[in-house]
Amino acid sequence: MTVKMLAARMHTLGEPMSIDTIEVPEPRPTDVLVRVKACGIVPNMANVINNWPTWFPHQPLPRFPAIFGLDAAGVVEKVGEAVLNAKPGDRVYVNPLRSCGSCRVCRGGERSRCRYYTLNGYFSTSRDGQRIFDLYPYGGFAEFMTAPEYSLVNLPANLAFEQAGKLGYIGTSYGALRNAAAGPGQVALIDGITGTLGVASTFLALAMGVSRILGTGRDERLLERVKALAPDRIEVLRLGDEPSGEWARKLTDGDGADFVISALGAQAPVETMLDSLQGVRRGGRVVNVGGVAARLPLDVKWLMDEQVQLIGSNWFTSQQGQEIVDMVETGVLDLSYLETRSFPLAEVNTAISGLKDRDGGFSNYVVIP
Ligand SMILES: [Zn+2]
Repeated sequence: MTVKMLAARMHTLGEPMSIDTIEVPEPRPTDVLVRVKACGIVPNMANVINNWPTWFPHQPLPRFPAIFGLDAAGVVEKVGEAVLNAKPGDRVYVNPLRSCGSCRVCRGGERSRCRYYTLNGYFSTSRDGQRIFDLYPYGGFAEFMTAPEYSLVNLPANLAFEQAGKLGYIGTSYGALRNAAAGPGQVALIDGITGTLGVASTFLALAMGVSRILGTGRDERLLERVKALAPDRIEVLRLGDEPSGEWARKLTDGDGADFVISALGAQAPVETMLDSLQGVRRGGRVVNVGGVAARLPLDVKWLMDEQVQLIGSNWFTSQQGQEIVDMVETGVLDLSYLETRSFPLAEVNTAISGLKDRDGGFSNYVVIP
């Protein structure tokens, strides 16, 4: 007898997803089957999915009818015969980062540099990603999904599934901070501090011992809210009030910040990024993890003279995900700031099609299959 499950599936681009009854998949030898308890969503996910083929025609989506759902957390239900560590009953976050696992970079633990790099249940930025989608066609908007054992992050008891549904963007912020070599005694400049990546970067930077955080944003109310998290360590600037780079230098005796995290929203003007670049100190790092998608007119002699590094950062490893939840387990990182709004699977279309996001990076939208 085959066992059935409910899954939200998109049959046609631009059309709402339908709730279909399909077979529960069997995990392959190196995979596990996860019973999904919560799956995080980014507001406006539908907009991204529907426009993806136009924006990036060589970067695939899952085949239709497609099960989307990027940030799933749940309980291991069944394991394949070659799975050694995971076992039924484990509470896990499923890192959607998929890669081949056997090329040079994958063997070196740098899966995000693999030519098969794909975000399960969302999209691929690699033209070879289709092969991965065919191997892993199940996203988190379903009652069950298969996942490779390497993707699992073990959740501590004090981390709720709904909070774990936000780990994708918290992890992306952590990956950026690691690329920035963030640590005690440093000054950070976070451009776009009120958004999902900005707020997460702030909590993480505080937990990682960064001394001072300078942050920019547009929404005054949210900026004040971020500042209130640690008024002695955080300064905020409303974008447009003055150039952010000059502001950062003014607050650091002319030196500038040790690193800049560019976490601006989608379609943010490139000028905003150029401004904040001026706020990095000699030998500092600028990490781009945000939504600016434009050519950057950059004085490369300045880059050389100042020995500034410009770094692109993309997602995070399962090991980095584990480090984040280990910080939650010990209480160094508190994710209770997340304001969770849950939607049943039947309301998936409402949940993904552009909710009014008043709380910026403090909000957390999850689908509960
Ligand atoms: Zn690879």
